[in-house]
Amino acid sequence: MDVQTTDFGARALRFNDGLISPYGGALLQTFVPAEDRQALVERVTVMPRLQVSAADLFDMELIASGAMSPLAGFMTAAAYHSVLADAALPDGRPWGLPVTLGISAEAGRSIRIGQEVALYYGENLAAIMRADDIFPWDPEAEARALGGSVDAHPRIRARQARHVAYLLGGPVALLAARGAEFMQRHHLWPLEMRSQFLQHGWRQVVVPHVQSPWQRTHEYLIKCALEYSDALLLHDTVEGDSARSDVAAELFAAASRMLIDDYLPANRVRSNPIPAGLAAHGARAILQHAILSQNYGISLFFVPEEASATAGQPDARDVFAAAARFGLDIRPTFMPHAFHCEPCGGIATAKSCPHADEQRVMVSDEDIVERLLKGESLPPFVVRPEIARALARGVAERLGGALQAGARHIHPHASEVSRELRQTMAGHKAAALWMTGLSGSGKSTIAHRLERELLLAGHRVFVVDGDTLRNGLNRDLGFSEDDRRENLRRAAEVVKVLVEAGLIVIASFISPFRAERKTVREILGASFREVYVDASLEACEERDPKGLYKRARAGQIPQFTGISSPYEPPENPDLRLDTTRLSVEQCVQEFRNYLSVSGTLRGSGGDRPGIPGVVPIAARGGARVQ
Ligand code: ADP
Repeated sequence: MDVQTTDFGARALRFNDGLISPYGGALLQTFVPAEDRQALVERVTVMPRLQVSAADLFDMELIASGAMSPLAGFMTAAAYHSVLADAALPDGRPWGLPVTLGISAEAGRSIRIGQEVALYYGENLAAIMRADDIFPWDPEAEARALGGSVDAHPRIRARQARHVAYLLGGPVALLAARGAEFMQRHHLWPLEMRSQFLQHGWRQVVVPHVQSPWQRTHEYLIKCALEYSDALLLHDTVEGDSARSDVAAELFAAASRMLIDDYLPANRVRSNPIPAGLAAHGARAILQHAILSQNYGISLFFVPEEASATAGQPDARDVFAAAARFGLDIRPTFMPHAFHCEPCGGIATAKSCPHADEQRVMVSDEDIVERLLKGESLPPFVVRPEIARALARGVAERLGGALQAGARHIHPHASEVSRELRQTMAGHKAAALWMTGLSGSGKSTIAHRLERELLLAGHRVFVVDGDTLRNGLNRDLGFSEDDRRENLRRAAEVVKVLVEAGLIVIASFISPFRAERKTVREILGASFREVYVDASLEACEERDPKGLYKRARAGQIPQFTGISSPYEPPENPDLRLDTTRLSVEQCVQEFRNYLSVSGTLRGSGGDRPGIPGVVPIAARGGARVQ
């Protein structure tokens, strides 16, 4: 290793160890070596004193350890404006994000250019820096360059809250290495990380550009990256200013750790916390993360496609192509958008899955948080159940704070088994398919045939018919008007329980009166589908499978529907099956088509089992056969 001392005591380390070189060729370390400390501390007494935030401390540590090479300090005006305008340093070298130190108006007026300044974090002397430049901070321009308004950038908002007016540029020499508690506990510096890689004989180490690996799709990307490399480094995100106290952030981090601890091979995975922002979407954050990773000795970089193209920012591929000419040697792999595919039975991408868009499910992190806010469960194929529970606790914690502030009145809980979860496990929607029609119209025949077909296709399905209930639950009921009504009410309640259990229930009841069917619809709510099994009275009478019409005509059965009691056909059924025109097979096929198009069946996509935020790639198949 070749070491040269440069400006303000910085040391440029050049390696010849077989690992990738840092960005710009040298790792620029700017912490103060033990032997120089005493002399420096004596000089500090005459310097102006500035307070820095925890986020500033993070940045200083990254600079001092060489993670920000070739930066050896906070940006001057030239570098700042060049990065905002062109995502490049003044020498043309691509650079994604500004690295600046915000100071108050008063500090800005009192510090002289060229002066040395002592930077304190609380009572502790953290660093000294040389004030090469003092220039106005422009939060709006900064937010615009990074995409979005000021509100979209927590670090900009935090600075505004601290009344930052100017930026102080110049080289930094760090005294309090690992001053930030979180870094103390978890962080390895680039040199330490590089020596670990060498000890293990790892040459090709990969970093995935993933912020919080909660989702199964993130896990998939991480595992693909592992397949491709000697080892993997996760730069899990910590949240700058709040990392010390935010329990919710700790719980979110714990959720990420569950994946690392329980589902990734410990002997090939390392993790290192980095400040928030670097793992965000958009070419700038991706570029910055790649630069930082290369400085840690990482040669491979996995980027999820969805993070790489962000409105208002260039495509990350183009940025890498430009940066390669300036020594960004880390090799990016852009992973196509991953999703859960129902027929594949797991995570896949468009490169590996042959199925239709409607059968693919993607969920954003925002959707996950939103869902947890509502106290809803998450499908296990989207987030592992134990990770979902940890996230739910994090959300509850964060909401607890919001509730104290009087913000919202929501009490989330991690529900263990909801109807939705049952549906998700079954892979299909629960539904009450209420078949109505004359006796002999074909309800039972179609119901049982359909039941068998759906069951064989892996669905949870069950037929409930009038005769079965009359022999058991309803055997106390006769055929008076009241008893018929009660018969149907009980039937609807039974069907409701089965729907709650996640089943597709096929109910076969003559149910001749509209008012009765209305009651049934009210009991069953959104799961109710009215299926009209339509056959002419003549056809039914001719079939007369149970000999009932003959007996009715002979006056042996009073109030027989179609003969001595009316049948009121549905006015607007969800499905009509004309059994005089169609064969049994055709009716069953039509029924299946309807269920498929309306999103009830496994793998039918469309209207998914009520998972808000679960977005099939294609527009939802709005087709509802009426
Ligand atoms: P329900 O349950 O409506 O009283 P069933 O299913 O018990 O009626 O009887 C219907 C009769 O009609 C059966 O004998 C069946 O074979 C016959 N049938 C003829 N065509 C059809 C069809 N397209 N769909 C259903 N059943 C049909």
